[in-house]
Amino acid sequence: MSKWYSYDSLYHSIADFIKAQDLTYCPQSPFKLCKDLGIGLIPYTDATQQLVFISKDGFSVRKGQKYYIFYNKDIYSRRTTFTLAHELGHIILKHHDLIGSDVLMSGGFGIAEDQANIFARNILMTPQITKAMLPFDIDGQQYKWFNVSKEMYNLRLKYLDQDLAWVNKFF
Ligand SMILES: [Zn+2]
Repeated sequence: MSKWYSYDSLYHSIADFIKAQDLTYCPQSPFKLCKDLGIGLIPYTDATQQLVFISKDGFSVRKGQKYYIFYNKDIYSRRTTFTLAHELGHIILKHHDLIGSDVLMSGGFGIAEDQANIFARNILMTPQITKAMLPFDIDGQQYKWFNVSKEMYNLRLKYLDQDLAWVNKFF
């Protein structure tokens, strides 16, 4: 059994999730994924200062067996897509248990943050569909179909071959 912080363990979990949710060539909104998985989604606004103080973008909370993702709905939607996928990553990768914290916020540092970011880019734009569609992305705009930011798409492309090799290892 690989250690949770290893790439082996991370990409194994990502591949399992892609298979279980049938995302390989069928992208899904993280809103729908969270709903299907019974994760509570709780929007807030810039006006709710005590929540913005925790995170400008969003954070996830474990309460008993149930998980909730709080997200700032005043942030533009392509960024929210990533925030939800990132927090979903914390939940699927069991970071609340592993780190021993009921609340995890977006935008921090460390292995769990890196893992959640890697999880997010791989479930929003799986390496398989990104690679398959790439020859048709002549104007570099395909990220818009996935409702992700240009910044996220650049990272997606930068790590595409690495992600594809890792995910394929567990397919
Ligand atoms: Zn995080």
